[in-house]
Amino acid sequence: MGDPTSTGIPVPASGSGRPGDETDPAASQTAPNTCPACGGSGRLENKPCPECEGTGMVTVTVGDA
Ligand SMILES: [Zn+2]
Repeated sequence: MGDPTSTGIPVPASGSGRPGDETDPAASQTAPNTCPACGGSGRLENKPCPECEGTGMVTVTVGDA
């Protein structure tokens, strides 16, 4: 016993994940996410967060390539 690479378990190569929330059909590779720099507050030490420009949200790439 010891051959996990050639066993014979078919794995679907289609990674179609559907969050089902605020997903834009135009942005299939990106998704809005809470800014990790400011935690979604949009501010860092009384200044606009440079990571999200004060929006508290950032667009992250969710491509599993
Ligand atoms: Zn931020």
